Amino acid sequence: MSDLLDLYKEVVIDHGRRPRNFRVIEAPSHKADGYNPLCGDRLTLYVQVDNDGVIQDVAFKGSGCAISTASASLLTEHLRGKTVEQAAKIFDHFHRVLTEDGVDSDSTLLGKLAALEGVRQYPTRVKCATLAWHTLHSALNDEGHVTTE
Ligand code: ZN
Repeated sequence: MSDLLDLYKEVVIDHGRRPRNFRVIEAPSHKADGYNPLCGDRLTLYVQVDNDGVIQDVAFKGSGCAISTASASLLTEHLRGKTVEQAAKIFDHFHRVLTEDGVDSDSTLLGKLAALEGVRQYPTRVKCATLAWHTLHSALNDEGHVTTE
């Protein structure tokens, strides 16, 4: 089990230091800004969805703590090629794993995002881990911006 925890930690550290898809998408179909005042994390999420509701590209820019950056990076890797509907399902599950007691993570649904599961032991960091997801939700619903408070 501790090996697994170490592995998870490595994934989070790696993505926090070298975020994937850390770039702007010009003329995205959806875009939103997210802000977590508790920690000071800020990010802009860009999403390119095609006419079939498939996420063709997703990227982000911004500055925040290692957890918010790793979470956004893992999100972008995990959601490319998935439908908007699947993304909503993944977010719902991810959010429950982090905020509800006794919800086991479904690794087929979450993939590497399961690495963030340990964050639930630190309630103040949960908002860091979910910021990118709230921002994604806001982008897909064309709300423009979101604050976690
Ligand atoms: Zn943070």
